[in-house]
Amino acid sequence: MYQLDQHTFANKAVLVRVDFNVPLNEKFEVTDNTRIRAAVKTILKLSSDGAKVILMSHLGRPKGGPEEKFSLKHIQQEVSKVLGKPVAFAGNCVGEEAKHAVEKMKAGEILLLENLRFYKEEEGGDEFFAGQLAELGDVYVNDAFGTAHRAHASTAVIAKFFPTDKYFGYLMEDEVKSIDRVLNGNASPVTAIIGGSKVSSKIAILENLMNAVDNIIIGGGMAFTFIKAQQGKVGSSLVEDDKLALALELMEMARNKNVNLYLPTDAIIADAFSADANHKECSIANIPSGWMGLDIGVKSREHFSTIIAQSKTVLWNGPMGVFEMEAFAAGTIAVANALVEATKNGSFTLVGGGDSVAAINQFGLANDVSYVSTGGGAMLESLEGIELPGVKAITK
Ligand code: AMP
Repeated sequence: MYQLDQHTFANKAVLVRVDFNVPLNEKFEVTDNTRIRAAVKTILKLSSDGAKVILMSHLGRPKGGPEEKFSLKHIQQEVSKVLGKPVAFAGNCVGEEAKHAVEKMKAGEILLLENLRFYKEEEGGDEFFAGQLAELGDVYVNDAFGTAHRAHASTAVIAKFFPTDKYFGYLMEDEVKSIDRVLNGNASPVTAIIGGSKVSSKIAILENLMNAVDNIIIGGGMAFTFIKAQQGKVGSSLVEDDKLALALELMEMARNKNVNLYLPTDAIIADAFSADANHKECSIANIPSGWMGLDIGVKSREHFSTIIAQSKTVLWNGPMGVFEMEAFAAGTIAVANALVEATKNGSFTLVGGGDSVAAINQFGLANDVSYVSTGGGAMLESLEGIELPGVKAITK
């Protein structure tokens, strides 16, 4: 029902919320156009249907009024280049200027509106402002997964003005389906690999995943809090001493829910947090003082890879070690390669939320897994089990 594919939009004015919050250099050139490329499929489908395609986005963090450096006109050319089509620009996202620009459009043409966040009403979720935006179109499409966890005027509130004419863009649809395959799919065993620096930032995710997966693999800095909680010696590894009890509770929770929780058994330890530190292999619960674990060891890599190979659905969130330093990247590379192998064997593999996305890109393997999420915060909140306002606004 909310799927673009099942409809055509000839001669409709379609308002598309995209996430064109791209990085610019000091000459206002786009330095990474990933987010623009992510919306191409939706925009071209609407344009080739013969719709008037009206793009709305935010850029940067203006303080609630127009600021030249955050104008979307800086990206107009890049959007046009990526789409291979001319793109017009309106110097305001609401009011007469925007209305006039829409009236001038012909079927299939594309218009980019000025930064939504030049109005504080956007982030405030103001209904009147949402209504002003809504006046510009006959149909609303949300393809901005990166801001779907925000209940802003253009991402959520606006949907009520289009009770029967609201849709997911293709990107949004792919993201929502991917998460759903992990949390509610029936291709088991389901394995979640959770890494990164701190347990404290992953508590809600771990708790929610316990209801959905068969296996949880824990790596990265956060593993040491679990090891210390079980009386292991972790030297000067990263530990959250105020989360030791919580780590034991999470282990207990896993047992009660019949979820296998796997921790590393060995580590690569270093005598300093530095790329050229002395380093060696060590059992994870016997790290000498003055040394810290900065990656998982060879046995853990092999064990984790075996579990991943036996899984039909795999979620990966968070690196296994300090992958930014070559000496401590092998654990994260091993997990990435295991996902690639699992994908080749027909498993569904999702990489999402923060640094594991950076890692899979750094290793050049992003095209060899089933799906790499484009939304950091939105992905994390989905994994926590939160229904995103931008998603709910379309489906409810
Ligand atoms: P997060 O933002 O919590 O997902 O954590 C990602 C960061 O955790 C990356 O920058 C890694 O370098 C870092 N990290 C991973 N393993 C370790 C470790 N064993 N000790 C310290 N930092 C780590």
